[in-house]
Amino acid sequence: MRLSRYFLPILKENPKEAEIVSHRLMLRAGMIRQQSQGIYSWLPLGKRVLDKVNAIIREEQNRSGAVELLMPTLQSAELWQESGRYDDYGKEMLRIKDRQERSMLYGPTNEEMITDIFRSYVKSYKNLPLNLYHIQLKFRDELRPRFGTMRSREFLMKDAYSFDLTKEGALHAYNKMFTAYLRTFDRLGLRAIPMRADTGPIGGNHSHEFIILADTGESEVFCHKDFIDFDIPPVDTDFDSVDGLQSIFEKWTSRYAATSEMHDEAAFAAIPEGDRLSARGIEVGHIFYFGTKYSEPMGASVTGPDGKEHLVHMGSYGIGPTRLVPAIIEASHDENGIIWPKSVAPFDVSVINMKVGDAACDAASLEIYQKLGNAGLDALYDDTDDRAGAKFATADLIGVPVQVIVGPRSIASGEVELKDRKTGARETMSIEAAINKIT
Ligand code: ATP
Ligand code: MG
Ligand code: MG
Ligand code: MG
Repeated sequence: MRLSRYFLPILKENPKEAEIVSHRLMLRAGMIRQQSQGIYSWLPLGKRVLDKVNAIIREEQNRSGAVELLMPTLQSAELWQESGRYDDYGKEMLRIKDRQERSMLYGPTNEEMITDIFRSYVKSYKNLPLNLYHIQLKFRDELRPRFGTMRSREFLMKDAYSFDLTKEGALHAYNKMFTAYLRTFDRLGLRAIPMRADTGPIGGNHSHEFIILADTGESEVFCHKDFIDFDIPPVDTDFDSVDGLQSIFEKWTSRYAATSEMHDEAAFAAIPEGDRLSARGIEVGHIFYFGTKYSEPMGASVTGPDGKEHLVHMGSYGIGPTRLVPAIIEASHDENGIIWPKSVAPFDVSVINMKVGDAACDAASLEIYQKLGNAGLDALYDDTDDRAGAKFATADLIGVPVQVIVGPRSIASGEVELKDRKTGARETMSIEAAINKIT
C-alpha cells in the first residue's frame, strides 16, 4: 500500500475526549471514528487490525471443532418472549418496531436465536456434540459507554454456543472453549487469566471470565502470581481428549483467581503475600455452562440412544474483538505510539522514503516495497512528501513492527536502515540484506 493513496487520517493533537491511552492512540492513528455515542466506524488501519484479530479467533474456534455461521443483528421479540428474557433484559436492549408494528430488537447476544436454529434441524443425539459460532455486531445500550471501542454500544462479539446430550458432554465442550481461549489470547500477544465469574443475565452455574491485567481495566481482580508463567496449550492439543482438556482446565484453575463480585477474602489471604496479585483487569472473554436454561423453555431436545427425548445441555462463549484491539494497545505501547505484536500488525513492514523526488531514494524504496510484496509481506510505503521527521513519527505512532528507512546519504553507498519498532534498535545494511532479514 502506498501511503499517498491510502486513507490514514492521523491526528496531530491529543483528542480531549480520550481518557485512556488506547483510546487516544486509536484516534490519533486514524483507526476509528465515533459516529454517535458509543458507535464507531473502523477506518482502514483499524479495520486491518480488527480483521487480523478476527482471523486468529476464527482459526482457534475452528481448531477446537466449532463451526461458523452468521446470524442477523435484528431479532424478533417473540424468541425472547419464549425464553422469558424479553422482559428481564431491561434498558440495555435496544427495542425497535418495524412498519407492521412488530416488536424487534438489536441482538445483545444470541442464545435464543441459536436455540431456535438448533431445535429446527437437530433431532438426534447422533448429531451431537455441536458448537456453532459467529462473529457479528451486537448492541447494548450501555449506561456509560466509554474508552472508545473498549466499552461501546455497538460492538463486535464472537459468540459460540455448544449443544450436548449430557452435562458431562457439555463440560467437555466448555473445556474445549476454555483451551481455545487460552490459545487465542496468547496468539494476540496477551496474557489472559481465567477467573471465576458471576453469570449475570446469561444465567448458569459454571463460568469463567478471561481477564487481562491493566491499570485502566474496569474490573477489580484478585489472583495468584503463578498465572503469569503458566504454559499455553500447544497447537497440537487434542481437543477430543476428555482427560487431556480436563487437565488443562484443572491446571489453569488450580490457583486462586476471581473478580470482585466473586472475591473470597479468606481464600485470597491464604496465598503467601508475595504471590498475591490485586489489580485492575479488562474482561476480554467470558464462557458459561448453563445446562437446560434455554433448551427447556424453548423445547430444544434430541432423541437419545435410549429412544427417549432429552433436553440438550448448552453453553455460550463470548469474545469481544472490538474490545481486544484497545486491550492489545493498553498492553503494548510507548510514548511514541502503538507497538503491535506481529500477529495483528496492520502491516508487516513500513518502507520510509526520506526524500521523495530523489532518484536514488525513489528507485530503492520502490524496489524494496515491491520485493517485500512479492515475498508475500504486507508493506506500507511512505511515498508522501512529508518531512522525514513527520514520517518517522507516523511510523512509530501506527506501530508497524519493522521500518526500512531509505535516506539519500546511506543509499549512495547502497545501504538502508532497519529499525525495530519495539526495541528501537537500528542497523544499517545493504538492500539485499535488509530484504533477506525481513522476509
Ligand atoms: P462487561 O462486564 O464489560 O459489561 P459483559 O460481562 O456484559 O461485559 P458478556 O455478556 O460476557 O459481556 O459478553 C462477552 C464479551 O463481549 C465480553 O467479555 C467482552 O469482551 C465483550 N463485550 C461486552 N460488552 C461490550 C461492550 N459494551 N463493548 C465492547 N465489548 C463488549
Ligand atoms: Mg455488560
Ligand atoms: Mg462482565
Ligand atoms: Mg461477561
